[in-house]
Amino acid sequence: MVMGPTHAVSGAVAGLVVAEFLPPEWGGPTSTAEVFTFAAVCAGAALLPDLDTTQSTVARSFGPASKVLAGGIDEGSLWFYRLTRGRRDPKRRGGHRTLTHTALFAIAVAFGVSALVVQFGRPAIVGTLFVTLGLALRGLAGGWAARSGWLVVTVLAAVLAMLFWSWYPDEVGSRALGVAVGLGCAVHCLGDAITKEGVPFLAPFVPWRGRRWWELRLPSMLSIRAGGAFEKAVLGPVLTLVAAGMVLWAVEGVPEAVTAALTEIRALG
Ligand SMILES: [Zn+2]
Repeated sequence: MVMGPTHAVSGAVAGLVVAEFLPPEWGGPTSTAEVFTFAAVCAGAALLPDLDTTQSTVARSFGPASKVLAGGIDEGSLWFYRLTRGRRDPKRRGGHRTLTHTALFAIAVAFGVSALVVQFGRPAIVGTLFVTLGLALRGLAGGWAARSGWLVVTVLAAVLAMLFWSWYPDEVGSRALGVAVGLGCAVHCLGDAITKEGVPFLAPFVPWRGRRWWELRLPSMLSIRAGGAFEKAVLGPVLTLVAAGMVLWAVEGVPEAVTAALTEIRALG
């Protein structure tokens, strides 16, 4: 798998891009605070699919609770794999990189979160923020999170969830949370798909040569080694720069100030 920080940063970039284009009728963000909330939720959700094994770093995010949850998701995914397996799909012992790494999961989670938010309002919003922001902390500040321990991460995630919730005053904006979570999951799959192992993104709907869980991946020439030199030296830094630039751009007044400065420079020239 691609490393946690790469997943989280690519989730943030995707969130910032989609926040720009998502129409307000769909719950698209209308203020800078909402854009950042959307992007942060997306960054955290980009780690969610790896909550399907107790071995992953994200399974440690909320201490024993997330470990137990990850174990349950692992079992459930394996059950679903066995239920839908094609005749040539290999036998598996664990559910890692199956159900949670599909388009089906990303779409189901998007609808699920939106439905919960519409049905229950505030508790569902705060709950979603709490989980995704906790994961985002794990992904974006992994060293710090490991040093501080899961209790500190959990408390901070709860505080941030309350703060972010207060930035979401209206019902419409909050519905976009489902989109942000689903988008994050899909971005995670994309990240795993550029590695040698690939992901069964279209499973179990598209049978191919007796398999329903075949992996979508790049030709081996183009695929990267997870945690390898390319990811550390090029992909990670480039994504981080893009994210930082987009965060700056999303701040109210900055694009106008840059345009004004450019006009000034042109006038001088
Ligand atoms: Zn993964």
